[in-house]
Amino acid sequence: MITEIVVLGGGYTGVWAARAAAGAGARVRLVAAAPDHSFHGWTAEVITGHVRPERARVPLADLLPGVEIVLGRVESVSLTQQTVRVATDHGHRHLAYDELVVAVGSRDAVERVPGLAEHGWSLKNPNGLAALRHMLTTLPPDDRVVVAGGGLTGVEAATAIAQRRPDLQVTLAHSGEAALPMLRPRFERVADYALRQALAANVEVLAGARLVTVSATGAELTGYGHVASEVVISTIGQTPVTLPGLDHLPTDEVGRLVTDPFLRLTEHVWAGGDVAAVPHPSGRGYCPANALWAIYQGKRIGANLVRTVAGRKPTPFRFPGLGQGASLGLGRGAAELYGVQLTGWPAWLARWVFFHWFMPSRPVAVRTALEWFTGPQWQGMSHDDDRDHRGPHRSDRRDAVQRNGGDHRRADRGAGARPAGASRRRGDRRERPVGAARVH
Ligand SMILES: Cc1cc2nc3c(=O)[nH]c(=O)nc-3n(C[C@H](O)[C@H](O)[C@H](O)COP(=O)(O)OP(=O)(O)OC[C@H]3O[C@@H](n4cnc5c(N)ncnc54)[C@H](O)[C@@H]3O)c2cc1C
Repeated sequence: MITEIVVLGGGYTGVWAARAAAGAGARVRLVAAAPDHSFHGWTAEVITGHVRPERARVPLADLLPGVEIVLGRVESVSLTQQTVRVATDHGHRHLAYDELVVAVGSRDAVERVPGLAEHGWSLKNPNGLAALRHMLTTLPPDDRVVVAGGGLTGVEAATAIAQRRPDLQVTLAHSGEAALPMLRPRFERVADYALRQALAANVEVLAGARLVTVSATGAELTGYGHVASEVVISTIGQTPVTLPGLDHLPTDEVGRLVTDPFLRLTEHVWAGGDVAAVPHPSGRGYCPANALWAIYQGKRIGANLVRTVAGRKPTPFRFPGLGQGASLGLGRGAAELYGVQLTGWPAWLARWVFFHWFMPSRPVAVRTALEWFTGPQWQGMSHDDDRDHRGPHRSDRRDAVQRNGGDHRRADRGAGARPAGASRRRGDRRERPVGAARVH
């Protein structure tokens, strides 16, 4: 009898697990809420126009030959009956499985901030990203954009927007004392460099500014009050997607499902990526939630499925990690690789190479790489293909944040800043020493 493998989620873990499992001689079905895989690594470059939005989205069917794609939303899992209930455009389906992979990732934690779902913008949802990109091209000069969240994604996005539209006022609001807490104190030099690039691009950095509410007229920030803004972008945090039927399983303190070292939740059920708390191979805590870990966990799940189907024992997850990084403009990278701090061109090039390498489609990666040399960005311009995208309607925003989005990385200590809403002179760079006290 042929083994039925069902993979839930078409993100990094799901795609890499399904791809590896396709060699198991089993029937592999992948359930995805959207027909494309989204590559989030190029978010800043999509905003600046350096990478075409379509390069960050690849049809799952192209990525996964031999895998049946079931388009629909997983509603629940029955561990006792070994079935998954899926809502599709054509009604409900019940998929039976012998082996199940849970890879549904995380979503914007919209419930943390009133008004965020209705009025905020997400960087995670590809439709939202394309609509945001269009919105940024049409905003009148001097309008304000607020980016909430001082993690790598927030700093990268705020800098990218300020570089793309130097005539806008871009505010980066984060709740701690210094942005980029995940790099401090060990990689302080990298964090300070990244923040200096943001300040050099005229980003206004507000420390201790927690996003309290979002409305049609702007954002409410602790310590700064109401900040009038047409666009409030959330990178404040993500929360794992929960599925009825799995909610009784053990979770870590942020709600991720705890796996064993083989990436199993329980017998015949595997999990990886943002939804899972996978024991770190070092023996200290759980693996971080980011794309690289999700990819390697997906690969290990797929390889273990192949072993399981062949009647062999699974092997534990052993990926030791690689590092983290961001691009703050062409040639201005900030990265930590195997614990080594890199800034400027070396960091930018390392990130560029790694991101192309880890794109799930080789042909798309090659095209994306070639466009850096042949496209308009090489002349300091951007791809101007916004005509292909929908305009920024209010429903796009709601859609964008509700369906996904944001960044789980949190803000912490930050550079000094002026109160938001205060007028700003063009060219006022405010290269305040990093770590300086917050200005109220
Ligand atoms: C803007 C942004 C930038 C980022 N930049 C980086 C970066 O530079 N480097 C890095 O390492 N990480 C980055 N990350 C983090 C990285 O994207 C995540 O860690 C990664 O996506 C996790 O992979 P995953 O497979 O667990 O989940 P995802 O990639 O989120 O995939 C989950 C999939 O499951 C689907 N799904 C969810 N619920 C259901 C359901 N009920 N039914 C069916 N399908 C469902 C979703 O639609 C999605 O396709 C970034 C994240 C964001 C938001």
